[in-house]
Amino acid sequence: MNIAKARHWLRRTLQQYDIDNSIRESILILEIVTGRNEAYLRAHENERLSPEQQGRLLEILDRRCRHEPLAYIEGEQAFFGRTFRVGPGCLVPRPETELLVEHLCSLISPEGMVIDWGTGSGCIAISILGAIPEAQAVAVDCSPLALGYAWENARRQKVERRLLLWHSARVGDMPPSASKPSLLVSNPPYIPTSETARLMPEVARYEPLRALDGGEDGLWFAKQLLQWAGANLAHGGLAALEIGGQSQLTELRRYAPTALVLAEAINDYNGIERIAIWKHI
Ligand code: GLN
Repeated sequence: MNIAKARHWLRRTLQQYDIDNSIRESILILEIVTGRNEAYLRAHENERLSPEQQGRLLEILDRRCRHEPLAYIEGEQAFFGRTFRVGPGCLVPRPETELLVEHLCSLISPEGMVIDWGTGSGCIAISILGAIPEAQAVAVDCSPLALGYAWENARRQKVERRLLLWHSARVGDMPPSASKPSLLVSNPPYIPTSETARLMPEVARYEPLRALDGGEDGLWFAKQLLQWAGANLAHGGLAALEIGGQSQLTELRRYAPTALVLAEAINDYNGIERIAIWKHI
């Protein structure tokens, strides 16, 4: 089978199994199988795939048609200019979360302690440490599997000396520290429990529900994080949360402790309120 045939066949099969963006995905799968980029694949449509490559292609296609996320199949996901190892047990980093990191990198002071609550792959903490060479961070997660990925990613990005991984499920269960943190950042589980049934199969079947389900109103964790930030952040420190839209923002504004003032609310690429940043006064 040559590259052109493989591409058409991949596209048709992905379509049959209701995979969105079948054109894009067929290229991505060929990139994984051949180790070549899109420009090469388009310029060498007649090149034949080796038997090993065809075998790998079949294996990937089979997994993808069961709606396994491509990031799990490939074992990595690009995020904020770096590649993060991911797999079952750890949420796949999303573009919305890149917005959060991008914003924070322009806001935070170089020294000071960062806490990333619910770190998953470590994408938020590690990206901040990568961008700000003086920063130090504590990355908290309830899942030992996720912490394993975060540790691997920290080592790959060479920030492991500035990152403490902390295993905990409870907000407020943080390591003792000499100084107050200057930033609490989190992409907490924020999907209301009733909406988790409507998630796309890639997410519902494969990604950890515990990383997504934010309780009845989706704000079970966000509210606790704001309380904690109000009581524990350094003067002038920031609490930055990824959130699920206007109604969550309104509710959190009502709820936030008086020590915090809302400094910024940022919309995502779809115009949905996605990031809220409070300042400790
Ligand atoms: N911090 C990680 C991310 O944003 C994991 C978030 C989570 O598990 N809720 O991808």
